[in-house]
Amino acid sequence: MTASGPIRSVVIVGGGTAGWMAAAAMAKLVRAGVSVTLVESDAIGTVGVGEATIPPIRNFNALLGIDEADFLARTAGSIKLGIEFVDWTREGHRYAHPFGEFGFDLDGVKFHHYWRKLHESGAAGWIEDYNFCAVAMRAGKYLPPVADPNSVLSRLAYAYHFDASLYAAYLREYAEARGVVRREGRVVDVALRGEDGFIESVKLENSGNIEGDLFLDCSGFRGLLIQQALGTGFESWAHWLQCDRAVAVPSASAGEEVTPFTRSTARAAGWQWRIPLQHRVGNGYVYCSNDISDEDARATLLANLDGEPLRDPFVIRFEAGRSKLVWNRNCVALGLASGFLEPLESTSIHLIQTGISKLLALFPDRGFSPVERNEYNRLSITQLEQVRDFIIFHYHANQRRTGDLWRRVREMEVPDTLARKVALFAEGGRFFRYEDELFAESSWIAVMLGQGVMPRRWDRLVDAIDPAEVKDRLDRIRAAFARAAEAMPRHHEWLAKHCPS
Ligand code: FAD
Repeated sequence: MTASGPIRSVVIVGGGTAGWMAAAAMAKLVRAGVSVTLVESDAIGTVGVGEATIPPIRNFNALLGIDEADFLARTAGSIKLGIEFVDWTREGHRYAHPFGEFGFDLDGVKFHHYWRKLHESGAAGWIEDYNFCAVAMRAGKYLPPVADPNSVLSRLAYAYHFDASLYAAYLREYAEARGVVRREGRVVDVALRGEDGFIESVKLENSGNIEGDLFLDCSGFRGLLIQQALGTGFESWAHWLQCDRAVAVPSASAGEEVTPFTRSTARAAGWQWRIPLQHRVGNGYVYCSNDISDEDARATLLANLDGEPLRDPFVIRFEAGRSKLVWNRNCVALGLASGFLEPLESTSIHLIQTGISKLLALFPDRGFSPVERNEYNRLSITQLEQVRDFIIFHYHANQRRTGDLWRRVREMEVPDTLARKVALFAEGGRFFRYEDELFAESSWIAVMLGQGVMPRRWDRLVDAIDPAEVKDRLDRIRAAFARAAEAMPRHHEWLAKHCPS
């Protein structure tokens, strides 16, 4: 007989970023009479990486009512205006994927079409000069955006870098204060209901069973519930995203100041991240184990730090791909248990966030109607595939000469969804945002142009406007952005004044 009535209890397995983000958001349910329990094992620990985010994280914090200055101080956080890609297109080249828009649309025509025409004739600089986040990134400057559309500062979009373990601790405090119960211990068994295979309870090593109506699998790469207990299956994307390991190490923040951007530098067998926090820099080399040994990857990472390493580098193994279903029976997987895409565009924490908001929007009752479950899976999988395509594109559109990995990814067939998108842009600078797509046109434009895809032609309507008038407008935008950035404080000075850790 199918159960009915509202969900009475939610059990979250795992206390990493995914588990505590879910717990903090689900804490609202406690007031509605739902018990929320989180189980985590100190002995197992968390993945220990994950420090860069994208702008919607601010909505998540705002929804919880988190004060930004307090949050930045408590997580040693810094501001992120975008990502700098070094040596990705070819050796010696760099470009930015800044947040925020490029220029202003003119007479209903997208800015990049105007820019394209003027750039061809040498009358416009590189497109980054017309994106305020890119200009501020380059200058190492920051001020919070303002709402007034007449101010250049309204063009600023930003996210954060933070210490993920401090963020989890922050959210834990938040969730526990609102009635979420934490249970410490290792889950050693999962009991399934005979009639339908739903999860009935999880068994802790030393302290009994925890029963629940809805289970959230936040157990990381193990996928303790979604894979090990329910056998959902995994779809691998390793043929497109060939990197399968990372070696990570924090370093002292010597040398460069706290820059308001993530840096990603291509290396022979993958790429290296640099994420500046207030108290240290997060670093890691994401690599393909076919192309380099762990030892050589470790040595490459250590040779490319801008301060002393603060511990021994540690290796993490992974496989790009997704769980075949992210909601199976009465279990929803969030975070690494739901799938993995390498952190090139800092999307994992965001995918946790959207997973949680979709779950709250489609919150089931104990009947677990397939209607909600199917919609959740459809939306989640579509979004994951869209992010996957964006990441594949960075690899595929390269002209690098060193490293066999780069030749393989350049020559590989990419998903049709991506091939269509790139062809459309290469032909006439056109772009269509698919349903619920995370990365907006400005992100694709930044990365497509940055990786060397220049549209063959521009929108015909551009030719209807006097080129001298367009040039004047572009010059004014560029000058206004440069002037505004010049007047802003340096990012590390702003941090030290407003939210020191
Ligand atoms: P974990 O952190 O692994 O947590 C799993 C939890 O489950 C732990 O609390 C563990 O104790 C518990 N657990 C497991 N088994 C049991 C058991 N049997 N019993 C009880 N508890 C158990 N994301 C970003 O957004 N930005 C980034 O810059 C970024 N960089 C990354 C770099 C690398 C190399 C990798 C691998 C990932 C990166 N990510 C990044 C992803 C990010 O780290 C994760 O999405 C995020 O940390 C969430 O992890 P999680 O909570 O799913 O898993």
